[in-house]
Amino acid sequence: MTTTGKPLYIVLVGAPGAGKGTQAHLLTQDLGIAPVASGDLFREHLSKQTELGLLAKQYMDRGELVPDDVTIRMVMDRLERPDCEKGAILDGFPRTVAQAEALDKELAAKGQKVALVPYIKVGEPALVARLSGRWICRQCGAVYHTLFNPPKQPGVCDICGGELYQRPDDKEETVRHRLQVYFEQTLPLIDYYRERGLLVEINGEQAIEDVHRDLLAAIQKVMS
Ligand code: ADP
Ligand code: ADP
Ligand code: ZN
Repeated sequence: MTTTGKPLYIVLVGAPGAGKGTQAHLLTQDLGIAPVASGDLFREHLSKQTELGLLAKQYMDRGELVPDDVTIRMVMDRLERPDCEKGAILDGFPRTVAQAEALDKELAAKGQKVALVPYIKVGEPALVARLSGRWICRQCGAVYHTLFNPPKQPGVCDICGGELYQRPDDKEETVRHRLQVYFEQTLPLIDYYRERGLLVEINGEQAIEDVHRDLLAAIQKVMS
């Protein structure tokens, strides 16, 4: 499937561990549009020890949200880069209603808008199990799970051979707090997008390939 004409903006929403990153990587291959993950952008800043990275770390370590103003600026700058000319698959942004309003405003100024907001729904027990077994490629960002999506060789990325690591904020006590923050600050987004007729619910408790199939079907519907 290829995109034609106007840029396509898809916003993936769902709790930490719902599968947003996994699905964003798969959709990128189908749609040829860039995945933009706010958490990855913060982690890139941190690995380069930028001022923004060091600020974000204070929040990320505690499982809190980074303040809206710096987050919004960082993501909007990212969307201006040439690889977002055809649009983006947003993963982890917006996470507050203020961020969603800022995104709408910026896109409207360019005569564009969000096309669809798939809400990947997963219950709390599965989220905790997923995050505690998550391993990520340091090089290409591919996402694995020790039980649900193991790499062929432990600790090594199937795609690029990069080293796999576990995120420090995936430890259990931080995970519990991130989920609480999600319920309090991000769930209101669901209504925001539902009221605008953009929300489509996807059952995220299926196998990765089945979630992918449902997502593609929903996207194909808005593109046709
Ligand atoms: P997950 O994929 O598990 O949901 P992310 O990688 O998206 O986690 O985010 C990791 C951390 O980065 C969050 O706990 C938060 O501190 C920060 N972060 C990411 N995106 C945002 C955002 N849109 N607004 C505020 N903070 C964010
Ligand atoms: P998010 O970006 O929403 O935080 P991830 O895509 O990083 O979520 O997935 C969290 C963990 O769950 C990863 O270890 C991933 O391999 C695993 N995972 C993703 N989708 C599924 C699925 N449908 N079934 C089982 N495990 C999954
Ligand atoms: Zn890799």
